[in-house]
Amino acid sequence: MRVIVPVKRVIDYNVKPRVKADGTGVDLANVKMSINPFDEIAVEEAVRLKENGVATEVVAVSVGPAKAQETLRTALAMGADRAILVETDEEVEPLGVAKLMAKIATEEAPGLIILGKQAIDDDSNQTGQMLAALLGWPQGTFASKVEVSGDIVNVTREVDGGLETVSLNMPAIVTTDLRLNEPRYASLPNIIKAKAKPLARKTPADFSVDISPRLRTIKVSEPPSRPAGLKVADVDELVTKLKEMGVAA
Ligand code: AMP
Repeated sequence: MRVIVPVKRVIDYNVKPRVKADGTGVDLANVKMSINPFDEIAVEEAVRLKENGVATEVVAVSVGPAKAQETLRTALAMGADRAILVETDEEVEPLGVAKLMAKIATEEAPGLIILGKQAIDDDSNQTGQMLAALLGWPQGTFASKVEVSGDIVNVTREVDGGLETVSLNMPAIVTTDLRLNEPRYASLPNIIKAKAKPLARKTPADFSVDISPRLRTIKVSEPPSRPAGLKVADVDELVTKLKEMGVAA
């Protein structure tokens, strides 16, 4: 069984994003970019399925600029077998990504597509669901456990106040939640080996997919700055301050 893992190049989760002065978006000049953390979890899960003899091949796919090759090399260093870059300098919305992934799924016939539940740059949480709809495949979103048994995948999902397990016929779509696994660090020998793994370069036009945007960003702004905290000497002063601020009676 083949597993496809879509991986997105995003602003590193340790970086505090700066909004451009004209409010049109986030400033990405000279900012560290990394693989989306939920996609790292998706790669880890796919590689574990291969190590356990469930999957035979793991294919990482990214839609983005030429530099997204670095993101794909990270996935290859973690254990993916080959990669596909759908290269574009345009910002591609979830529907465009889902349409491209649907075309690739039709060519590659995977048993599973494991995506992150959301990309931490746009927080859309849409691509996996749209992909399931376009392909007409079942979906298990926000997975905290994935177990394949024959043609079925059982996905345990984190829902409000507990866990829900759903059973899906494969081929299926799974999206990862934070607690699914702890991704491995790629070792130096594997980083070097990853350089020799196959990476195919395509464009959206190769798949006849229209990636033109459906949305226009009107404004991006920083969250309001919070006033600095106060140091108090003791509990009495704390209570007095809280009363002054109207938070305590
Ligand atoms: P989103 O719907 O944008 O929050 O993204 C959800 C998931 O879809 C991500 O965690 C990735 O697995 C996948 N994805 C979104 N955008 C891309 C992209 N440009 N290239 C590859 N995968 C993507």
